[in-house]
This record gives sequence, C-alpha cells and structure tokens, in this order.
Amino acid sequence: MLTVYNSKDMCCGCTACETVCPKNAITMQKIGGGGYKYPVIDQSICVDCGLCRKTCRWVNPKSSTSEIKRFFALKVKDVDVLNKSQSGGAFTVFSDAILKNNGVVYGAYLDKENDFTVYHKRADNFEERNLLRGSKYVQSDIRQTFRQVAEDLNSGKKVLFSGTPCQSDGLLSYIEAKHISAENLYTMDLICHGVPSPDVFNDYLKYTEKKYGDKITGFNFREKKINKWGTHIEEIKFQNRKNVYCDWYANLFYNDANLRPNCYNCQYIPTDRNTDITIGDFWGVENVLPDFYNPHGVSAVMVRSEKALKLLESQKENIELVEVKEKDIVSPQPRLNSCNKKPADYDIFWNDYKNLDFENFMHKHSFNQYSFSNCLKRKVIFIVKLPFRVLRKIYRIIRNIS
Ligand SMILES: Cc1cc2nc3c(=O)[nH]c(=O)nc-3n(C[C@H](O)[C@H](O)[C@H](O)COP(=O)(O)OP(=O)(O)OC[C@H]3O[C@@H](n4cnc5c(N)ncnc54)[C@H](O)[C@@H]3O)c2cc1C
Ligand code: SF4
Ligand code: SF4
Ligand code: SF4
Repeated sequence: MLTVYNSKDMCCGCTACETVCPKNAITMQKIGGGGYKYPVIDQSICVDCGLCRKTCRWVNPKSSTSEIKRFFALKVKDVDVLNKSQSGGAFTVFSDAILKNNGVVYGAYLDKENDFTVYHKRADNFEERNLLRGSKYVQSDIRQTFRQVAEDLNSGKKVLFSGTPCQSDGLLSYIEAKHISAENLYTMDLICHGVPSPDVFNDYLKYTEKKYGDKITGFNFREKKINKWGTHIEEIKFQNRKNVYCDWYANLFYNDANLRPNCYNCQYIPTDRNTDITIGDFWGVENVLPDFYNPHGVSAVMVRSEKALKLLESQKENIELVEVKEKDIVSPQPRLNSCNKKPADYDIFWNDYKNLDFENFMHKHSFNQYSFSNCLKRKVIFIVKLPFRVLRKIYRIIRNIS
C-alpha cells in the first residue's frame, strides 16, 4: 500500500490506520507546514492487506445508526466546577459518572512541562480528569491512546473518550475493526470549529515569552472567571510578571486559514453522528430559555444512545437540565450548519508564516482588541459619542412628556 489517505484534505490524523496495522508499518509524521501529522507507510514492512484503508472513516464513511436523538441545555450546579469548565460543565458530568464506576476517561491535555504540547491522555481519577477540562484551541495529538482504550475495554473497564468528532469516530472505527465490544465505550465529541496548527500555537508562545522577557507558566485559551463566558480572551500566566489578557491567539484561531486542511471538507456537520454524546456551548440559550442563562456558561448536549442517557440521568442531582428542540442548538451554531470555507488568502497566510518573522506574520493576520491603543480608541469614541447620547436621551424624555 503506497498511502492510506487520498489527499491531505481527506485525513484528520486520527491514528486509526496506524493503530490497526497488524505489521506496525505505519507511523504518524509531520508533513508540510503547520505541524499536522499524517500516516506514512514503511513499504518494506507493509503486506498490502488493505486494513488501514478499510478502517479509515475518510475512505469508508459510516452513516449514523443512533438509537435516540435528544437535545438538552445543561449546567452544573457547582459554580466552582462551572468556572473551571469551558461551557456548562457537560464533560465533568459524564466523566464523573464513569469515574464513580471505576472507569477511565480520555481527553485533551495541555502539557505545561513540555512546551505546552496538546495531546490525548488517560485519567483514572478525578484529579487527573480535572486536567482534561477546558478547550485547547489547537489539534490534540492522539498518540497511543486508541491502543490504551482497547486495553481498558478488554479488561472490562468502562471508558469515556472525548475528542473532536473525527477523532472519536476514528476510535469507533478502530474498535470495530479489532472486533472489540463497544458496550462499555462511551464516545463524546464536540461541536467543532476546526483544529488550528500546533506549530503556530508553539511559535506564538515562544514569541510571547520573548516579548515579555519572562517564562510562560500557564495558558488558558478562553478565560471566563474574570471575563464573561461569551468572550474569547486568553489568559497568559508568567513566572514573574502579572498575567496578560489579550486575544492575539484567539484571532489566529478564528482566522479561517489556520485550520487542518481536512477541516474545509468536514464530514461531521450534521447532528447525526456515530458517537454517543456531543457537547458544545449553548449559544443563544438566553433566547430559548431566558431563565436558564448563566453568565458562567451553559452546555449544549446531544445524546444518541440509551446508555449515555442513563449516565446523564445518574448525575441529575448535580445538574440543571432542560430538554430542548434540535433547532434551538443548531440554528446559532455555524459549524452545525456548514463547513468552514477555505479563505481566499489561505496561501498568503501560509507563505507569510513560512517567510515572515512571527511578529510581522501575527500583525498581518491577527489583531488584539485589548491592546492599549485599541482600548484607548474605544474610550475616545465613547467620550466623543457621549454628549450625543445624552442629548438623544433628553430629547426622548421631552418627547414622551409632551
Ligand atoms: C478546537 C475546538 C473547537 C471548538 N469549536 C466549537 C464550536 O464551534 N462551537 C461550540 O459550541 N463549541 C466548540 N468547542 C467546544 C467548546 O469549546 C467546549 O470544549 C465544550 O463545550 C465542552 O465544554 P464543557 O464545559 O462541557 O467541558 P470542559 O470541562 O471544559 O472540557 C473540555 C472538553 O473538550 C475536550 N477538548 C479540549 N480541547 C480539545 C482538543 N484540542 N481536541 C479534542 N478535544 C478537546 C477535552 O478533552 C474535554 O473533554 C470547540 C472545542 C475545541 C477544542
Ligand atoms: S485513519 Fe485517520 S489518520 Fe489514517 S488516513 Fe484515515 S483519517 Fe488519516
Ligand atoms: S496495507 Fe496492511 S500492512 Fe500495509 S500499512 Fe496498511 S494495514 Fe499495514
Ligand atoms: S472541523 Fe471536522 S474535520 Fe476538522 S477537526 Fe473538527 S470534526 Fe475534524
């Protein structure tokens, strides 16, 4: 076999092919700019059995056969947990239920000790699971976790695997190919905007350390304790200086050129999926359930299997839960309606990333709403407009009186 995937825009890097290969002929390697990994076959070992291609969901997509399809607004009652979760704490709710049953949980981990690399990790206790909370807006490296999941299932453990839709579907395909029972497997995925480049994130951190002349000790992709849930401001913690709040990286994330190539061809837009659970931010909840809105966050949850529903019901005393209609969740979510479009400046973005120094690249393709000059600009505009606002208000009052 020469290659597993047909083209780079048809491979999500899920590792299902690498893990399923009976000869260990496949390794995941960084190919091209961005630091994204793709499977590479060692031709001297490959026996051309075809299992890798058969297992790849991008070569052989599988349509959903879900038992049920129910939609919920969810928030955890514990405000501390809510603040530590990205949305309404749905991940904690399901993973709590698994851990209480001596199961194990898999999710994305930000490794502060190793250049803030993001990769998937196994957790068999609450402390380790807590490290998986929070969105890391960069592609998470699956590493060897599919193999670990298989070992856990074979030893009779309950497993919750949380990842992007393509990662979780890749796991399901691998488990099926290995003829392992999925009875104890709970797959969770996200409403997914797409995954930015690990190299761009890494360069951003190096640039920021140089700019402030201090070592970064913590990075929160979307801080929501000081700033509101609906905002997207990153919090950067340093060894010696005070925290920095800005949205340089957030705007690199929302720059649609900074995505893995297959994200422009995403097959996971519909709510019909093979996973048991989908979670995300419940944007627009204030319009559907005004009393349910919480400035600390609300989760949108979709449940597709009876076993996942039972898991949710087992946690009822810790959560507030209201069933909603599909359209309540889908309508305000761009990524549940259509795929990201490759922007016209895609090639310019990546050529600039290769050829410019990082500062010039970032200033050309991102911005910081919270810079001193932008804040000053907003304040000046506010002050200039203030007399007109006051006059308008006085005019309305006089008009109402007369
Ligand atoms: C790249 C990315 C894009 C997203 N796009 C959207 C979107 O367009 N709309 C929307 O509503 N929600 C989106 N989300 C989901 C949202 O940001 C929250 O992660 C989700 O609602 C879970 O919140 P929570 O409070 O339940 O969980 P938390 O307790 O905060 O847990 C976060 C969960 O997300 C997983 N996770 C974190 N980073 C990654 C990663 N890089 N790759 C795979 N899994 C990861 C963790 O393993 C964990 O299970 C996105 C998340 C990511 C990582
Ligand atoms: S199985 Fe996953 S990693 Fe392998 S080719 Fe397909 S999408 Fe890429
Ligand atoms: S064809 Fe078979 S042996 Fe060759 S890489 Fe694919 S799975 Fe491995
Ligand atoms: S946007 Fe689609 S292809 Fe890209 S990471 Fe998310 S699920 Fe995978």
